[in-house]
Amino acid sequence: MTKREYGIWINGAAELPAGSALFERNSPSTGESVARVHLAGTTELDRAVVLAKETFRKGGWKGLAASERGKILLRWADLILENLVTLSRIEADEAGKTIAAAKGEIEWSVELLRYAASLAWSIPGRIVNHEGAEKLGLVTYEPLPVIGMILPWNFPTVTLFQKLPYALVAGCCVVIKPSELTAGTAIEYARLAKHAGIPDGVLAVLPGTGEVVGQGMCLHPDIDMISFTGSTAVGRKIASLAGQSLKKVALELGGKGANIVFADAHLDAAVAGALAAFTINQGEECCAGGRLLVQETIASEFVAKLAEKAKALKLGTPDDVDADLGPMIHAQHQRKVLDYVEKAREEGATLVTGGRAPTSPGLHDGYFVEPTIFTGVEPHMTIFREEIFGPVLGVTTFKDVSEAVALANLTHYGLANGIWTSNLDTAMAVSSALESGFVYVNTYLETVPQLPFGGSKSSGLGRENGPDGLLEFMQAKSTFIRLRPNP
Ligand code: NAD
Repeated sequence: MTKREYGIWINGAAELPAGSALFERNSPSTGESVARVHLAGTTELDRAVVLAKETFRKGGWKGLAASERGKILLRWADLILENLVTLSRIEADEAGKTIAAAKGEIEWSVELLRYAASLAWSIPGRIVNHEGAEKLGLVTYEPLPVIGMILPWNFPTVTLFQKLPYALVAGCCVVIKPSELTAGTAIEYARLAKHAGIPDGVLAVLPGTGEVVGQGMCLHPDIDMISFTGSTAVGRKIASLAGQSLKKVALELGGKGANIVFADAHLDAAVAGALAAFTINQGEECCAGGRLLVQETIASEFVAKLAEKAKALKLGTPDDVDADLGPMIHAQHQRKVLDYVEKAREEGATLVTGGRAPTSPGLHDGYFVEPTIFTGVEPHMTIFREEIFGPVLGVTTFKDVSEAVALANLTHYGLANGIWTSNLDTAMAVSSALESGFVYVNTYLETVPQLPFGGSKSSGLGRENGPDGLLEFMQAKSTFIRLRPNP
């Protein structure tokens, strides 16, 4: 395994900040060191923000025709695909996911990038012609100058590309704080962005801790907006810190998705969907369907099929081409997930399969957790209420549509839910009643870049992707013109 060493990306170049704290990133699969990271501190943050503000004010980037920005982003997309092998390796090593999963994540991110680039040809604006030919109102959308982006470790690339290309199309300058656990790809994306033609100063990447760089961004007077993806607990802190300087915030937070399976669903498709919903990215997925609500008449048959498939899943290291799931991100997170399993048992849920850290050769040095299913889960239990962020599923049964909707909405989260039924009327009625920003019908975790993504309730504020994703980084300006003098 090649060990990488990197620091920050600033003013179009990589730099190892002098005297900075060092962070050793160990592989979550094997424990081996994969990267030595020179972390940014407040000095680097201040330099990056001041440079971003100056770059914005000089106007070279926002002053380009939007279509030129779009063409640069399309070149960037091509360069990312040309470097897919290297980028997937870095993502897999640092995040612990399989090479195949890392590759899929990056390819999807390039789709998002290309879609965002296409919006450069349709930057919104409108004319308000209220009183005949005398007067004209113009609504134009202008970029917010400097955006601070704070990212999690579970999908280091997707969470970046749901934000960054939209902000760049808008004409903003951006300072990025990836998670220090998974910062390697962000530095490489910035390097490729320079080759594509993004001017120096538009983009900075500062691997650093939440307490130093993250909080510093929220309080910095020259950052105009924080776009955050991470846990609800940290999201609340960020909103409160950003409120002190009246920054705009967009928050993509945690979830506790319910996958609702009605008796008239196509059972094999629903079983496959329910399995993917709680095991994809080893359950470290904000939209995970960690609650399975299944109609009681089909529950035992459904759970038997699901458990059989869950047992057949293979845990493995990034290079294991047959592996379906990787390890948890670090030892403390593995412990946290296993504690949730223990708590579910104590609170009276029935373990159907999994529930342990495997001890088989090749896996004992990593932080793996077996795909785990509990039945008999009731709404008061912790497994029903809290985001576990691992491959753990709780099954609850329901009698009819109204009980299914009531159970699904019995959470303070509101990110994504799924419905499995062959009746379109049921699907539409339940979708409308669900309190979440996204609803999947007869599929799960499938989308297209044109669809806005984001949470309701404690799952967030604002939307990414789609035309809404571009507007998040812009604000409306009204210009009112009197076309003929008013004597
Ligand atoms: P986290 O909230 O612990 O950390 C996210 C980022 O915030 C990291 O970069 C971290 O360094 C930084 N941070 C931590 N404390 C901070 C502070 N006080 N001020 C500023 N920044 C701070 O989340 P995580 O453990 O990295 O990721 C898992 C969480 O992210 C889960 O809850 C998951 O649901 C959520 N998530 C949400 C989405 C979404 O789109 N809604 C996508 C991916 C992950």
